[in-house]
Amino acid sequence: MSGSYRVPEAVNEPVRSYAPGSAERSELKDAFRRMAGEESDIPVIIGGEEIRTGATQPLLAPHDRREHLGVWHAADADLARRAIANTVDAHREWASWPWEDRAAVFLRAAELLATSWRPILNAATMHGQSKNAFQAEIDAACEAIDFLRFGVHFAERVFADQPLSERGVWNRMEYRPLEGFVYAVSPFNFTAIGINLAAAPAMVGCGVLWKPSIHSVLSSYYAYKLLEAAGLPPGVINFVPGDPVEITGAAMESPDFAGLHFTGSTAVFRSLWQLAARNLDRYRSYPRLVGETGGKDFIVAHPSADRAALRTAIARGAFEYQGQKCSAASRVYVAASVWEDIRDDLVDEVESLRMGTPNDFRNFVNAVIDRRAHDRIVGYIERARASAEVEIVAGGAYSDDEGYFVRPTVLLTTDPSHEAICDEIFGPVVSVYVYPDGRWEETLALVDSSSPYALTGAVFANDRRAVREALEGLRGAAGNFYVNDKPTGAVVGQQPFGGSRASGTNDKAGSALNVIRWLSPRTIKENLAPPTAVGYPFMEAE
Ligand code: NAD
Repeated sequence: MSGSYRVPEAVNEPVRSYAPGSAERSELKDAFRRMAGEESDIPVIIGGEEIRTGATQPLLAPHDRREHLGVWHAADADLARRAIANTVDAHREWASWPWEDRAAVFLRAAELLATSWRPILNAATMHGQSKNAFQAEIDAACEAIDFLRFGVHFAERVFADQPLSERGVWNRMEYRPLEGFVYAVSPFNFTAIGINLAAAPAMVGCGVLWKPSIHSVLSSYYAYKLLEAAGLPPGVINFVPGDPVEITGAAMESPDFAGLHFTGSTAVFRSLWQLAARNLDRYRSYPRLVGETGGKDFIVAHPSADRAALRTAIARGAFEYQGQKCSAASRVYVAASVWEDIRDDLVDEVESLRMGTPNDFRNFVNAVIDRRAHDRIVGYIERARASAEVEIVAGGAYSDDEGYFVRPTVLLTTDPSHEAICDEIFGPVVSVYVYPDGRWEETLALVDSSSPYALTGAVFANDRRAVREALEGLRGAAGNFYVNDKPTGAVVGQQPFGGSRASGTNDKAGSALNVIRWLSPRTIKENLAPPTAVGYPFMEAE
């Protein structure tokens, strides 16, 4: 390199509207239709080679049980081991590439995704994960583009951080990628998260074994092909869909396992941490374990809360993408006077939300991801129905006839320790607890102690002292805290995302804090005037 290059300034990708008559709407509808008739045949990809193992699984659409989008081929443990060897090998050359060449791959991917690949990734997300056009757009297009652009930007910032050098010495920090490979394990609910879990370590020179969720293989495959189209060399990221336990076993028993980049449920992350601990003696280095996990995200409304803003935040925060966001509002603590004012309007609002397939753009709510999720959510609704302490004030209906549909549901409970208030339900269910107006401080303590999670939370109040008290009292209760806003919708570069307690290691996806986890710096001291005598002045004769 013969220049101190600077990457282009990172800016957030504008969200397109998909309003009737817009160009993006017809482009997306075309891509959606094309994909429906395609019968995809998705391979495992190792070193750029597409491998069709014959162990196939169907690609399903959660909103239409009859729809068959094709199949994906599963890797087994042997193939995973082959992929690991290939990743470790490819990583050696990749790690030696100049930063600007690696950065250019991901910046190019961002531009492709902002243009020609946008409808493809959005359509795949709508089909396979049952997102409406807007939810797909803010995820598979905008957030993914932001992760790529800001990832490059934050890596550059980290690299620029250099130590002091005294006269006669030149000190440097070389930000080496981890030796071995990083294992990226992604959840079903955000296409962008899968891209980031694989791309963030790769950007700074790591090799990555990427195991997508079985529920998002379609969009993950197109994400991989996007990176390939942008010039990512074969093997830097290997794409290994398969049985999670089998692939994970192969990955985490490898001596080259150098890091885990995980997003998913708390229980699975804990089991992976335990597996790493059991295998510790095998590893060449101490693996970095980064996991963003579950949430039971709150809204707490003071008597001074703006009613209309609160009602909107509950409806959007709890029910967009069927409540299947780690940040979804799922427990609401509301002052009695406020509840009295908003209850009827909230119920009307929620009951009026249209539900159905994503190809009908009028639908706000689509299907939940699979039968297991449907049955789990229904279990919570039915136990609530049977409980004397819970009233179903909106929703409560469901059907698995055509797809896995659950109506947006509002539960009202008198028991602040009810399972509906404490467990992560991960569906379109929000639980409301009404507190007496005078018991604000006690309620803050209740919010803080009622759930093991600490991901997102929001306070609604016009009284500034109440806002102050919530910020103070709920300091440990959320890694992303909102004042008079819904607790979802964090934007890369604006609200770095992640939670603590049972919600994860809080390494803030898409920020410099995350970049650092994939680096093992080497400090280089170069003496420009090395001493040539052993003795020190104090040893000389008086
Ligand atoms: P999940 O835990 O079921 O799956 C996540 C990943 O782990 C998938 O790739 C899956 O195949 C794999 N996996 C599952 N069981 C495994 C096992 N026994 N061994 C190894 N790997 C295994 O989660 P999900 O249903 O895909 O996603 C929903 C969860 O993710 C929710 O709990 C949600 O809160 C969380 N989430 C958190 C964030 C965040 O930033 N904190 C973001 C998105 C989702």
